[in-house]
Amino acid sequence: MGDVTLDGITKRYDDVVAVDDVNIHIEDGEFVTLVGPSGCGKSTTLEIVAGLTNPSGGTVTIADRDVTRLPPKDRDISMVFQNIALFPHMNVRKNISFGLRLRDFDSEETERRVQRAAEILQLEGMLDRMPDELSGGQQQRVGIGRAIVREPEVFLMDEPLANLDAKLRVHMRTELQRLHDELETTILYVTHDQAEAMTMSDRIAVLNHGELQQFAPPLVCYNEPANEFVAGFIGSPSMNFLEGEMGGERVETPHFSVGVDPAAVDVGADGPVTVGIRPEDIYLRQTAATVEQPTDAVEATVDVLEPMGDEIFVYLLLGDAADDGGPTVEGADEASARSDQLLMSVEPDVRLESGERVEVVLDRDRVHLFDTGGDARAHGVAEGSEAPTEVNADGGEGR
Ligand code: ADP
Repeated sequence: MGDVTLDGITKRYDDVVAVDDVNIHIEDGEFVTLVGPSGCGKSTTLEIVAGLTNPSGGTVTIADRDVTRLPPKDRDISMVFQNIALFPHMNVRKNISFGLRLRDFDSEETERRVQRAAEILQLEGMLDRMPDELSGGQQQRVGIGRAIVREPEVFLMDEPLANLDAKLRVHMRTELQRLHDELETTILYVTHDQAEAMTMSDRIAVLNHGELQQFAPPLVCYNEPANEFVAGFIGSPSMNFLEGEMGGERVETPHFSVGVDPAAVDVGADGPVTVGIRPEDIYLRQTAATVEQPTDAVEATVDVLEPMGDEIFVYLLLGDAADDGGPTVEGADEASARSDQLLMSVEPDVRLESGERVEVVLDRDRVHLFDTGGDARAHGVAEGSEAPTEVNADGGEGR
């Protein structure tokens, strides 16, 4: 059984805490992705599971065996790295079987495994080719083939698609999912790309500064982010955040207010909160008929339009911000950090012009509230929205 447990895993480098008391249990056959910004401790965590780095504290269990002190070769894992180094003077067959030949597998068994890997990876016609006769995607598949023939309990993959061009990366995401379906082997995958994490994984573990922020299925992280960090990191473009003040049954932001159903919000003292709303949950007032519990209309000025083909990103300025001069938008992250801007997405056929005054509404069922420490207090503030359950970062329900 290829389940993997990280229990209290910590890694310190002098004064840097690269991984800070991470607890994760990965089920046998699950596809789990470690995701977070550069430097958050993803690779270090993977290296600790692989046995390439010793933890400063905590234990790693693979298939019910404590492997914390075992060398990589005794852990029943295979790794796929970002930089696949194929041997240029060996053909595909020899490249794939290299590790088996080192381990003195008999030639019949080696050939059986190579054929199976080639079939799964659609490399059957290419076994006699040399690496320089392959495209980047094909070379990457050979690298994965090398890992497959080991038939491990667990695959560890560190940004294996990072060096591929954008189109091929998207294609390889599908291939990896298919591979996972066929092999039914546990995969622990590392990427900084939240879209990659969202599309492939059964569950994602979001890390920041070495700490686990949330460990849950992708859509749970998207719809019920445990905190402001996860809310901002998962989803592109990012969620809008506005400073707010909770009082009575309303949250006041500098430019508009949102009615709050007391049953929907984990009631705490009135005071400062952060309001979060995703671009797709803001509507032009005239198209908001489908929104059951909208906010009052919010006046805004269209600043910048970004037509994406299938949708248009509309950067809105709230209140008097529009009088400050020309376009102020520098990108989604800049916009999301300011309380006088909102980023909205609209259907591609909507006609808007820069400078136009519009009225928008927010879907109150999709408004998130975060307390001053960043923890989620509500996902939906309308009647019928449920207050968030207290969830530990490792996915268990707590308190
Ligand atoms: P990620 O993979 O998320 O980009 P890493 O796991 O590589 O992050 O690194 C996490 C933190 O640990 C970073 O601050 C990094 O600088 C630090 N770090 C990683 N390896 C070492 C090392 N060998 N020596 C000192 N600091 C390190």
